[in-house]
Amino acid sequence: MAQAIARYHVTDLKGFYELMAQTREVRVQAVAALAAGRPPEPAFAHSLENALLNLRETLRPDGKAELEVAPGRSMELDLGYELGELEKDLLYLRQGEAALLAYLDELQPGFSAETALAADTLRGLRFRAWITDRDGTTNNYCGRYNSSIQSVYNAVFLSRYARANVGRSVFITSAPLQDPGIVNVSVNPENSFIYAASKGRECLDLEGVRRVFPIEEEKQALLDSFNTRMEALLEEPEYEIFTLIGSGYQKKFGQTTIARQDITGTIPEAESRAFLARIKEMTARVDPEGGHFRIEDTGLDVEVILTVDDGQGGKDFSKAEGVDFLNSTFDLGLDQGPNLVSGDTRSDLPLAEAVLRHSADTWAVFVTRDEELARVVRELAPRSLIVSCPDVLVAALGALA
Ligand SMILES: [Mg+2]
Repeated sequence: MAQAIARYHVTDLKGFYELMAQTREVRVQAVAALAAGRPPEPAFAHSLENALLNLRETLRPDGKAELEVAPGRSMELDLGYELGELEKDLLYLRQGEAALLAYLDELQPGFSAETALAADTLRGLRFRAWITDRDGTTNNYCGRYNSSIQSVYNAVFLSRYARANVGRSVFITSAPLQDPGIVNVSVNPENSFIYAASKGRECLDLEGVRRVFPIEEEKQALLDSFNTRMEALLEEPEYEIFTLIGSGYQKKFGQTTIARQDITGTIPEAESRAFLARIKEMTARVDPEGGHFRIEDTGLDVEVILTVDDGQGGKDFSKAEGVDFLNSTFDLGLDQGPNLVSGDTRSDLPLAEAVLRHSADTWAVFVTRDEELARVVRELAPRSLIVSCPDVLVAALGALA
């Protein structure tokens, strides 16, 4: 039994993440009950309501939250995702599916009509395998990965669809697997989805066993050494803030991501640049010859990436390599089809292409309002469906179970 969530004051960012982690525990149990056909206990909704009220208390009159990240230093947050998903879950748990769908239709004009059309398009189809991106595709977008906890209705609808219509279902993400990672923000019932993290380099199978794409020992040792140094640095009080903003510190398989800034510019630019220099210096110390690591700086996140040997000076691992690894590791049978692949951005096109290379008997579903991307998807896949937002896809799939 998950600990009940009480009413209390959330004052700092750590407390906020702790509260969101508690909502995950409650949601996992609510989903497990619903998946087993049991009515969820009223205590679940009560806990989520307390969480919602605790969060609402952090809001300023302008609707943004302000939380302390370190003594004397606070940060502005848009809690639209966290609040919105808690509101939807409360309605779903207390008043049921029809009430939730009516509410979604109120939030977005045309929602019901678009959902019905999407469901009609996919009705009667069965898939051997479904490989899907999470953020922006099946999950509404949240600016902070570690608080992007999946909602109850989302997990119930998706897993219901997967159980009824798909042989093997896989989430593929560039985020890491665990602690923190996709496992810590997902609430799907056990045995419903394979989680493929770090673009498919590290997976959790249906039995909860971790499978990894092999990395040479020598390279792994270098990354481990970098991570150990990085973690020691991040434990120092002046650097701790970098674990709390934006992407935070993400130890992925074959890659480590460290935030040096967030979208609201919490860190003064000079401090952010000094931290970047520190990361580069640390990388150079671990890999003095260069060549084993590649550093990518987006201005917000610094990615320290272990190169994959391809005999030509190293290359990156993409979701396309991930698909091939998944297919052989989990016997997905992609070559036989029919397959379903879903994504939401240009970076998911290689994913769709990789699945299509295995079999032309593949449906590509993209969640986008970008007309150009939609055109590319239609050209790429003989059978495709474009929807406007994750909730349309989730509700349409939920209607097909
Ligand atoms: Mg995405």
